[in-house]
Amino acid sequence: MKICDAHVHLGKSGPWQPYMDPTIYIDKLLNLFNQHNIEKAVIFPNPNVGDKYPLMNNYISECTRRYPGRLIGFGRVDPRREDSIEELIRMKNTLDLTGVKLHPMVECFRPDHPFFNKFFQKTSQLELSMLVHTGQGFSSPGLILKIAKKHAKLPIILGHLKEASVTALEKARNVYVETSGTRPELIELSVDIDEDRVLFGSDVPYFRYPTQVAIVEAAEISPKQKRKIFSQNFHNLFSRKWDKEP
Ligand SMILES: [Zn+2]
Repeated sequence: MKICDAHVHLGKSGPWQPYMDPTIYIDKLLNLFNQHNIEKAVIFPNPNVGDKYPLMNNYISECTRRYPGRLIGFGRVDPRREDSIEELIRMKNTLDLTGVKLHPMVECFRPDHPFFNKFFQKTSQLELSMLVHTGQGFSSPGLILKIAKKHAKLPIILGHLKEASVTALEKARNVYVETSGTRPELIELSVDIDEDRVLFGSDVPYFRYPTQVAIVEAAEISPKQKRKIFSQNFHNLFSRKWDKEP
């Protein structure tokens, strides 16, 4: 089965993982895709804060332009910076990116602080999608749910399907979940809420394809529901982008 992947990192990484360097470039990534039947993927920069995100966004844009039917590009932004709104506009209008990836721990910001209202408003206005890392503290799904409720037209994918993300999925129609690093039981619960808003994600190169595919395979759901997670839901979410391609 061909698989679509909603969570892939690309490009140079800052000092982030003590036991591995997640730096990966496009040729190696495409080899991995071919090896593991990955048909399409959302790609975005590795963590590398400071003033480097715009350069890394340029690389993502270059890659998506080289492989338009295969890659969807999301940019990364540090929302605390004065020029973050400008970067959102550049991502959409100049780089032709489709969304923004946020990691509230890496970028060190509390998403529901009023300071960031304008940032989320602009993201929604530009019709960008969003993928947010979820976990503890600033990354807790409850905080992101508040953003989702305020900006009902902004599609928000919660990364790594945590227990609290299941509640968020239930409470806001614009919330999606992505399965990297999750457990099969949480996929079953999510599918019960809405089988159309669960997406396969790998978090490559931090995780590997065989383990991440096995999590979805292990869920006790129907083959049709698995097809939705592995591919159909991704196509539906990003169909606007595909329609634009010649
Ligand atoms: Zn990731």
